[in-house]
Amino acid sequence: MSNILVYALHYEGQINKNSLGAVSEGARLAAELGGEAHALLVGDQAGEELAGPLGAYGAKKALIASGPEGLAQPVVDAMAKAITDGGYKYALFGGGLLGFEIGAGLAARLGAGVVMEVTGVRVQEGKLIAQRPILGDSAISEIEFRSPVGIVIGRLNAFEAKESGAGAAAVQRIDYELSAHAQQATMVKRGEQRGADVDIEGADIIVAGGRGLGKPEGFQLCEDLAAAFGGNAAVAATRAVVDAGWYPYAAQIGQTGKTVSPKLYLAAGISGAIQHKVGMQSSENIIAINKDSNAPIFEFCDLGIVGDLNKIVPKLTEAVKARRGA
Ligand SMILES: Cc1cc2nc3c(=O)[nH]c(=O)nc-3n(C[C@H](O)[C@H](O)[C@H](O)COP(=O)(O)OP(=O)(O)OC[C@H]3O[C@@H](n4cnc5c(N)ncnc54)[C@H](O)[C@@H]3O)c2cc1C
Repeated sequence: MSNILVYALHYEGQINKNSLGAVSEGARLAAELGGEAHALLVGDQAGEELAGPLGAYGAKKALIASGPEGLAQPVVDAMAKAITDGGYKYALFGGGLLGFEIGAGLAARLGAGVVMEVTGVRVQEGKLIAQRPILGDSAISEIEFRSPVGIVIGRLNAFEAKESGAGAAAVQRIDYELSAHAQQATMVKRGEQRGADVDIEGADIIVAGGRGLGKPEGFQLCEDLAAAFGGNAAVAATRAVVDAGWYPYAAQIGQTGKTVSPKLYLAAGISGAIQHKVGMQSSENIIAINKDSNAPIFEFCDLGIVGDLNKIVPKLTEAVKARRGA
């Protein structure tokens, strides 16, 4: 029997969407392995009201460890103790930079194998096999663990949060010791760097801008269009422009940025480099505006508009506003 321990990140009284996906996925896999999925929450604010409802996503048990939430090293301490005491065979993370840091720390602490950017996991002969895209997402590699503990870190949005309707998770508080180095960092401020209240990974519509915008102020065109769509629309960017300081890093889509799959991805002045493509190719509909008809993005978009974005985007914004009666 193999139980799976899933890290559940929380912020302002809510469990992170990717963590909910990881709990759901952990529950599915644990059932196939003949075990249970348990969740671990770290934080002085974490209580029964936050942990118990994880049962709806399939967690049979929710462990709560006190300490600072949002910092990696305290979670490594708490999780390493929980894994050792509980005899867990696998640990699962929903993705994101914090998950990468905790997973790497845990692997070092426990001598465990770790796989990052996982897009799928399956069970074979009582063991987990992690699937990870390689070579710019052109192929999938399958990874089996030889170590006693296997750590699986998903790519953002890889695991879907599914309510399975089970009852509340049994909540249990656990003790652990904070190592000296885990006390070196203190949380000064926690929040979303991307500004406003948009959630790029959760947005239905993304208006993304690239170097074709010409200058930092060019992003106003993307922001106006996103605002015209209203509701759940967000602005994103390529690495070229965030490296140039035109837009915040938190908005970067791609291999070294975020992975998104909105209903609509509108790319303005983006060439469509492979490193950008891997972060947005699973969008339901991709519209590209580019003045170069040979731009690579035209090879994988659903609708391509060849022309100057400075003329097209404002007209599109007006058309969307008119359509929505705004
Ligand atoms: C290891 C590594 C990791 C990377 N990770 C990422 C990543 O995570 N995300 C990412 O995005 N990139 C990443 N990159 C960079 C990537 O290779 C590209 O350089 C980058 O995506 C290009 O950004 P861009 O499309 O904004 O710029 P460009 O490639 O310069 O394209 C600008 C486009 O705008 C068009 N254009 C110009 N003016 C106009 C106009 N007036 N109207 C319409 N179109 C216009 C041009 O025709 C051109 O196609 C990475 C690179 C490496 C090596």
